[in-house]
Amino acid sequence: MIYFKTNEEIELQRLSNLLVSKTLAYVASLLKTGETGKSIDKKAEEFIRDHGGIPGFKGYRGFPATLCMSVNEGVVHGIPSNHVFDSKDMISVDCGVLMNGFYGDAAYSFAFSEAGEDVIKLMRVTRESLYEGIKAAVVGNRVGDISFAIQHYCEKLHGYSIVRELVGHGVGRSLHEEPEVPNFGVRGKGPMLKEGMVLAIEPMVNMGMKAVRQKNDGWTIVTKDGKPSAHFEHSVAIRKNGPDILSDHSIIEESIKNNPEIRII
Ligand code: MG
Ligand code: MG
Repeated sequence: MIYFKTNEEIELQRLSNLLVSKTLAYVASLLKTGETGKSIDKKAEEFIRDHGGIPGFKGYRGFPATLCMSVNEGVVHGIPSNHVFDSKDMISVDCGVLMNGFYGDAAYSFAFSEAGEDVIKLMRVTRESLYEGIKAAVVGNRVGDISFAIQHYCEKLHGYSIVRELVGHGVGRSLHEEPEVPNFGVRGKGPMLKEGMVLAIEPMVNMGMKAVRQKNDGWTIVTKDGKPSAHFEHSVAIRKNGPDILSDHSIIEESIKNNPEIRII
């Protein structure tokens, strides 16, 4: 079933998402060549706990870390590892926080200074597609309108591939609630969007083919063809006056401006 949130509950969810966004901004300041995901993950966990939250992913179905860090051909669900970051890397970081009984969920992809122009373009298009999806997240539309907007932008207009196996979702007292929010679909189909729904909208976009596989760590999803994949995510409340984005990428982007090793995209 779909849980509809009151205005008060949406404000609590905004606080959870603000802590997610602050954590991702903190991560943006820590991303340096020579660093590892594992050490950043530890600091992110301390940051969340110091600010009164609980890491939302750690222990979720046995996931071992606070952040999902997916490098280059990594799509999502990467386990922070001892991989030493290289100046050509692109890292997608997904973060969840539980606070006041509600989850926040957002993601951002980061490019180191020597990442290829083709990777930068993939990241830009993925981020833009997120906002195309959000524009369609209005009362009276259906989930398929969000799905179609994202797919059309990435596949039809830019020739990239949308991952089919993983989708966005409702988010609230549980990390994953109904409805599913695929990044591909048909306009006018799927559940009706109503006031009080909160959706995690999260395009996962591949430069090459859409096929993905899971690594034998049981978590990390990578592209089958080994080409890069980007991921951006916002938690968005459906409201009378239009989509209300509860997470905040602008503070992450402010933090990137102060880290010369990470490109502004
Ligand atoms: Mg997420
Ligand atoms: Mg999510």
